[in-house]
Amino acid sequence: MPRDYYDVLGVARDATADQIKQAYRRLAREHHPDVRRDDPHAEERFKEINEAFGILSDERRRSRYDRFGHAASNARTPEGFDGAGFGGSPFEDLFDAFFGGAGRGPAPRSEPGPESGADLGYTLPISLEEAARGVEREIEFARMETCSVCFGTGSERGGGAVTCPTCSGSGQVRHVQRTALGMFTQIVGCRQCGGAGQIIRDPCQRCGGGGRTEAKRSLTVKVPVGVEDGMQLRLAGEGEAGLRGGRRGDLYVKLRIAEHPTFGRRGTDLFVEVPISMAQAALGDELEIPTLDGGERHALAAGTQPSERATLRGKGMPDLKGRRGDLHVTWRVEIPTALSRDQAKTLQEFAKLRGEKIAPKKRKIIEKVKEILQ
Ligand SMILES: [Zn+2]
Ligand SMILES: [Zn+2]
Repeated sequence: MPRDYYDVLGVARDATADQIKQAYRRLAREHHPDVRRDDPHAEERFKEINEAFGILSDERRRSRYDRFGHAASNARTPEGFDGAGFGGSPFEDLFDAFFGGAGRGPAPRSEPGPESGADLGYTLPISLEEAARGVEREIEFARMETCSVCFGTGSERGGGAVTCPTCSGSGQVRHVQRTALGMFTQIVGCRQCGGAGQIIRDPCQRCGGGGRTEAKRSLTVKVPVGVEDGMQLRLAGEGEAGLRGGRRGDLYVKLRIAEHPTFGRRGTDLFVEVPISMAQAALGDELEIPTLDGGERHALAAGTQPSERATLRGKGMPDLKGRRGDLHVTWRVEIPTALSRDQAKTLQEFAKLRGEKIAPKKRKIIEKVKEILQ
């Protein structure tokens, strides 16, 4: 469904002719394709703005649009068109203001042939585990489909398209402008047909003559094993329907892998930090290291240092061919922060046995009292 013309121009439904003209001039300046050369949607947007203005600036067409919506405005039947449509068009002052009166207009258009449907994008969030094992996910999105009533022809009873009477099919209108400096000829896009060169005689009520309607589509996306964050899956032919027999666009599913609470990742290598106690580090222990597969028993060597690392070969992420990287373990030796009196005494004895001379700062009397009362 085309956008509401009032929304396109950003004006209220009861806007005055002046307000509409002002809104149009501001938008047309902003969105002119010659200004926004890098914006692929500029031309489309510019066309939309012109079309909205074409209807809303014409009292008769505006009131028809208010009553019947797009079905009426898209009719653009020859009898509904008054030949003086360009009289009072703001094109003159617009182009004057912008290009100093030089006769520049939209690029010439060729006959409308098949038009490919647009590609669509979808962002799919997955977990690290899903990236490691692969996953199938159901997604739902909206896309333009060929209208089921008119089969994309845009015309209600097979009336078909006829050559635009205003531009005789060229999609352009030559506009002569007289100024103090002489006569200028401008070529501007035809407003009746929006530059297409053809108009629909009897527009389809369902799609408003556009030949397409928006519909929901759901499908299953197969995420392969070993994908990385930001990778895109291309689902050929799952984008929007084309026009006039044009091919369908594609759907690009962008994968976003959520940050994992336990593992860091670089390529196929995973990183994990495992907390161990001072005693475990000194004495050695058998403990469980978290892995993507659940966990693995590991023999911690006696005398493990805080800077030491362990590598579990083949416990990292798989790549797209299923080859797995390694899991790198960093030990985080935790030094106790609050020792009980007995623990402190034992540690002092331990230090003594090792011949260490330790003179801990004398604790305040109040702390001692607190400890006794505990
Ligand atoms: Zn239709
Ligand atoms: Zn035309």
